Amino acid sequence: MQQDYISKKYSYLCTALGNNAYCIFYFMNPFLELGIRHEVVNAITELGFEKPSPIQEKAIPVLLTGNDDFVGLAQTGTGKTAAFGLPLLEQLDFSLKQPQALVLCPTRELCLQIARDLEKFAKFIDNVHVVAVYGGAPIGDQLRQIRRGVQIVVATPGRMLDIIGRNAIDFSGVRYVVLDEADEMLNMGFQEDINNILSETPEDKKTWLFSATMPREVRRIAQKYMTDPVELTVGTKNTGNENIEHQYYLTRGRDKYAAFKRIVDFYPDIFGIVFCRTKIETQEIAEALIKDGYNADSLHGDLSQQQRDKVMKRYRERNLQLLIATDVAARGIDVNDVTHVINYSLPDEVENYTHRSGRTARAGKTGISIALVSGKDQGKIRHIEKIIGKSFVRKSIPQGTEVCEKQLFSIVNNVHNVEVQEEQMNAFLPQIMESLQDLSKEEVIKRFASLEFNRFLEYYQNAPDLNIDARESRGDRGRDSFGSGRGRSNGYTRLFINLGSVDDFSRGDMLGYICNNGKISGKSVGKIDLKGVFTFFEVTDDVVENVFQGFNGVDFNGRSVRVEVSGDERGNERGGRRRSGGRDRGPSRGGNRNRGGGFRDFSGKRKESKSRY
Ligand code: AMP
Repeated sequence: MQQDYISKKYSYLCTALGNNAYCIFYFMNPFLELGIRHEVVNAITELGFEKPSPIQEKAIPVLLTGNDDFVGLAQTGTGKTAAFGLPLLEQLDFSLKQPQALVLCPTRELCLQIARDLEKFAKFIDNVHVVAVYGGAPIGDQLRQIRRGVQIVVATPGRMLDIIGRNAIDFSGVRYVVLDEADEMLNMGFQEDINNILSETPEDKKTWLFSATMPREVRRIAQKYMTDPVELTVGTKNTGNENIEHQYYLTRGRDKYAAFKRIVDFYPDIFGIVFCRTKIETQEIAEALIKDGYNADSLHGDLSQQQRDKVMKRYRERNLQLLIATDVAARGIDVNDVTHVINYSLPDEVENYTHRSGRTARAGKTGISIALVSGKDQGKIRHIEKIIGKSFVRKSIPQGTEVCEKQLFSIVNNVHNVEVQEEQMNAFLPQIMESLQDLSKEEVIKRFASLEFNRFLEYYQNAPDLNIDARESRGDRGRDSFGSGRGRSNGYTRLFINLGSVDDFSRGDMLGYICNNGKISGKSVGKIDLKGVFTFFEVTDDVVENVFQGFNGVDFNGRSVRVEVSGDERGNERGGRRRSGGRDRGPSRGGNRNRGGGFRDFSGKRKESKSRY
C-alpha cells in the first residue's frame, strides 16, 4: 500500500507537465495521501475539492480496505457521495462490464445527482459506466444502458425492483451495496423493497450505509444485513449541520404571510427553499408570491416529472430565487449556496426538520434555517432543539424601516457591483449626460436609488409591527395570513357552505355558484377553501347579507343548501390567498419585484427570468 502510494505520487511527479508548482501541489494533496489514484484526484481538484471533508477523511481509509461493512452517520451535504464514491472507483474492475456496485437512494433527484457525481469523479478513468435507474422516466433507455454494460448502478428502490422483476440485470457480480440516506428511504416506505433488492445480491458483498439519523429501523437494517460494521459518526448523532443557524419568528397566524414576506425582503440576496406542509399550501404560497412580484415557483408531487425538472433547472441555474416545496418533492435536492431554508409551516414529523435545514449550509458553507411559528408551535421548536442538539435564536420580525434600510443598501451595493457594458453604454452616454446635466451627482445618485427604493418605502410606510409576545401568542390558533379566523376580520367574512368537492365542485365552480346565487361580483369573494363535504369561503363584509339572502331556500340535488358564518378556525390553517384584491400585496404591486428581467445572481449580473410581468 505504502509503496503503491509513493509510486503513484512519483509517477505523477514525473508526468506533471514539468511544472514544479503542480508537482508540489499534488505531492501534498491530502486525497492522494488517503490513497486515491491521481486520475481521480485530478478530477476532484477540477471540482474544487482541496481537502477531504470530515466524513471523507474518516470513511475513505476504512472503505478502501474493502473488507468491512460500514455505517456512516452524517448529515446531507457533508460530502457523503465522495466518501463512498472515491473508494468505489478504487475497488471496481472497469475492464469488466458487469454490475459490481449498487447504490440505493430515496429519490430520483438524488439518484441523478449521485450518478452525475460519480461520472465526474471518474472523468479521467477509462471505461467507467454508471447508470441511473429511477422512476418517472422511460425504462427503455435505462434497460439499454444496462445491456450495454455498466459497473455501477445508482437506483431508487421501486424502479430497481421493476428491472429485477424483468430479469434485466445480473447482480451476481455485485461486491458493494451502498444505502444512501437510509433513514429517508425507510421514511418513504422502501423497507420491503430494500429487503427484496438486497436478497438479489451476493451474500459476501459489503454493505455501506449512510444516514443522517439513526432511528431504530435503520439500526435494524444494519443488524440484519451487516456483519460487525465499522461505525463512524461525523458531528453528533442526529445533529444538524454545525454551520446552520436556526432561527424562529413568532407570528400571529393571520400575519404569517406578511411576516414571511418581510423576512424575505429583509434578505435582498436570498436564494431560498420555503417548505410548506401540503401541496395545496405550497401551490397557494407560490401563487401568492408570484402575484406579489416575487421570483418564486412551486415544487410538489402534483407536478409532472417534466414540470418538476423545469422548476429545478430554473432554481439550479439561479433563475428562480424562492423555491416553494413540500418535503417529499424537495428530498435529495442538492443545490449549493442555498442561503435560507424557511419553514413556512413546521413539518408534522419533527425529524423532517433536519432534512429540510440540511438543504442549506452545504459543502462547508453557512446558512440560516428559519421557522415561522405561532404560539402553539413553540413546543415543536423545543422538541426540534432536542433532536438537533442546538438552540434556536428567536428573532424579531423586521420593522418596515429596517427592511427599507436593508433594501436601500442592497441597491447601493448592486450599483457598485453592476457590470457596465461599456461598448453598448458608450453609444448612449452623451445623450444620457445631456439629459441629466442639470442634476448634481448627489441628485443623480438619489434618483437612481429611488427607482427601486420608493416601492419599498411606499409599501412599508405605516407598516405595522408584526411581532407578538409569547404570552399573547399562546392563545393564537395559528390562523393563516389570508384567513379571517372566526367569522369576521379585515373587511372579509368567512362563511361556511355545506357543499364541497364530493358534490363535484371545483374552486372555480364554487366561485361561480356563490356569485350567481348571491348576485355578487367575483371581486367580492376571497379565499375559497374547498373541502370534501363543505367549503369555507370569504366575502367582503358589505356583501354578506346578499349571500345569505341569495342562498335562502336554495337546494342542490334535493339537499337544502346551508350558509353560515364560519365558527371553525381549523379550516383556515393552511396558506391561501384572496382571489381578488389581497390585503397584503407586497412592495411590488405595480410589477415584478425584480424589475429589469430576472433575479440578480451573486456576481451582480442580471439573469433572464420568465416570471416577470
Ligand atoms: P454530498 O454530501 O456528497 O451531496 O456533497 C455536498 C456538496 O459538497 C457537493 O456539491 C459536493 O460537490 C461538495 N463536496 C463534497 N466533498 C467536497 C470536498 N472535499 N471539498 C469541496 N467540496 C466538496
